Parts: sequence; C-alpha cells; structure tokens
Amino acid sequence: MTKIPSPSIIALDGPAASGKSTLGQKLADSLGYLFFDTGIMYRAITWIALQHDLDLRDETVMTDLAQNAHIDIRPPSKNDGRPCDVIIEEKDATWDMRSGDVDANVSVVSSYADVRKALSGQQRRIGLRGNIVMVGRDIGTVVLPEAHLKIYLDASAEERAKRRYNEIIARGEQASYDEILKKVIERDRIDSTRAVAPLRPAEDAIIIDSDKMDADQVFERVMGLCR
Ligand code: C5P
Repeated sequence: MTKIPSPSIIALDGPAASGKSTLGQKLADSLGYLFFDTGIMYRAITWIALQHDLDLRDETVMTDLAQNAHIDIRPPSKNDGRPCDVIIEEKDATWDMRSGDVDANVSVVSSYADVRKALSGQQRRIGLRGNIVMVGRDIGTVVLPEAHLKIYLDASAEERAKRRYNEIIARGEQASYDEILKKVIERDRIDSTRAVAPLRPAEDAIIIDSDKMDADQVFERVMGLCR
C-alpha cells in the first residue's frame, strides 16, 4: 500500500491557553517534526522590555528590540514541565516569560505592525523548511497561509482559565482563578481586535472545540486528520 505522507507544515492557532502548546509538542514528537511556539518570541520581547523598564507603549523602541534581540532556545535543562529552555541575555527566562506581568503586556507589544513584521518574517523563513508544527495566532492566516493542515483550537474562556490555573498550582505556585480568567478574556480581546494579523481561524482551518475533550482526545482527532 502506498504510504500517504503526513502534512509537512502544520499550523496550529487559537486563543490563549487553549492547549495549543501541549498538542503541538505532542504532534511534533509523534511525527518527528520541529515544534515551534511563536508566542515565545512575543513573550521574550515583552520580558526584555519589562526587565529594562523600557516603554512598552513606544512602538519604535519595541520594534528595535524585535529586530535585534537575541533569543536562544535550548533543550530543557530541568525536568519541571518545560518543553525547552529560553535563554535571554544569559538568563533562564523560561518561566519568567510566562509570568502575570508578561501576560498582561504581551498583547500590546504584539499589536505593533513592525514588531509583527520582524518576528513573523523569521517565523515564515523557518516554517517554510517544512516538517514543522508551528503554534500561534496568525500562522494559518498570515505566517504560513500555504500550510498543509490548519487547526484552530478553541475552548471557552472559563475552561481555558481553569486549565491555566491547574497548571500553575501543579508547579507549586499561587494563583487566582478569577484573575486568570480576567486576563485570558482581555488578552483574547486585544489579540482578536488588533488591526494587523488578528486572531481568527483561517478560512480553510479545521476548528476544534476542546471544551468537552481532554488532551488525548484532541491529539487523537488531529493525528487522524494528519493521516
Ligand atoms: O501563545 P502565547 O499565549 O504564549 O502567546 C502570547 C501572546 O503573543 C499572545 O497573547 C499574542 O498577543 C501574541 N502572539 C501573537 N501571534 C502569534 C503568537 C503569539 O500575536 N503568532
């Protein structure tokens, strides 16, 4: 029997905390593909700006950062649930980049057209090599519209906040569900109403609502689509 090749470029988009990274990593592992979480780039720029007290409202400053920042991704050095190490300016920023402060500011930074241009150009160059699962908000619509398989992973804000809350508690940190829910809703609002590359499903994306599905069921569904 002829083996049908798996789609070489898989775009995985969706709102905050919809489980894209967990799914993307698992898909990439199973297919032997590169996993690329593009949110890391927007988070890294935001984290650097906060570290240096830069003005996040200044688009020129933020664009300069996006064009020049050196972000390094390395294999995980700790077994604490991290998919990789993110090293910026010699510091391990892996979890700091996921802090409430970054969550609260990243959507403003990612709304700047020139910041997006700088980062999505790099994403596209890497994505076009193929054998990749790329995760973000605009992968299927803007970064890689030629992707062979486009998934838009959705879930209600309440379910997504619950999952994010459980993740934080499992890491032994403190969290407030209500605060998380508020931030998730606000981030989605900014991400989906911005002028450039707003969050929305591509016309040819397959929309999966994961409210009533666990991570394994979502994975099986998407693997089925890959086959
Ligand atoms: O996926 P994650 O929650 O880590 O993304 C953080 C933020 O980065 C998003 O809320 C969004 O503002 C921005 N982002 C984006 N485009 C992408 C990936 C992330 O605008 N492709």
